[in-house]
Amino acid sequence: MRVLLIEDDNAIAEPLAEGLGRYGFAVDRVGTGAAALAAPVPDMVLLDLGLPDMDGIDVCRTLRSCSRVPIIMITARGDETDRVVGLELGADDYLSKPFGLRELVARMRAVTRRARLTDTISPGMPSGGGTGPTSTPQCVGVLLIDRRTRRVHLAEVQVALAPKEFDLLALLAEDPGAVYSRQHILDTVWDPNYFGPTKTLDVHIAALRRKLGNPTWIETVRGVGFRLTVSAGGGEDHR
Ligand code: CA
Repeated sequence: MRVLLIEDDNAIAEPLAEGLGRYGFAVDRVGTGAAALAAPVPDMVLLDLGLPDMDGIDVCRTLRSCSRVPIIMITARGDETDRVVGLELGADDYLSKPFGLRELVARMRAVTRRARLTDTISPGMPSGGGTGPTSTPQCVGVLLIDRRTRRVHLAEVQVALAPKEFDLLALLAEDPGAVYSRQHILDTVWDPNYFGPTKTLDVHIAALRRKLGNPTWIETVRGVGFRLTVSAGGGEDHR
């Protein structure tokens, strides 16, 4: 089982990851909400609510908007409001610091059992892990890209894209951060061996940037092509 541990405090994250490893969990660690949302959807999420770049509650909401992956919130905040809001947003369980490793593992197992049961009763949205990019909407930062319905949501608001604009975004989102060459984009989104004016591509990039509202998300790599670098925090870049 692949566990994504979202915790900025190394003093907690390190022994926790090590301990869970002893129980047979494969743990990926990230220290920010942005890194968590950019990571592949795991089988289980352990989410610290106090993160340096964004509120853990927002991470929970965004994760839940595109996946049924089990989420256990972990926090030092003793605030009942957080617990209630988190659970209403779809977190599966809640653990207050300090807690013991054995208690956490017991909760993880219980949540996994419940998730399997729910999947059996109401199959539909996959619980994450092993799902193809065409069937599951993909979260890239605050963007939600649904290739099946060809819809894009930006912080839960739908963005109206022209067909080629969608194809272009979907291609760049296949591997966020990776550089896609102009020729590869033209070959894939337009036609193989595209011979038309390459300005077409620039026009579509410009339109996409305008519609997404943050020009920095589609970065021009001079002399090569473009890459997608969506931040998790909305309009501003929080990195
Ligand atoms: Ca923290």
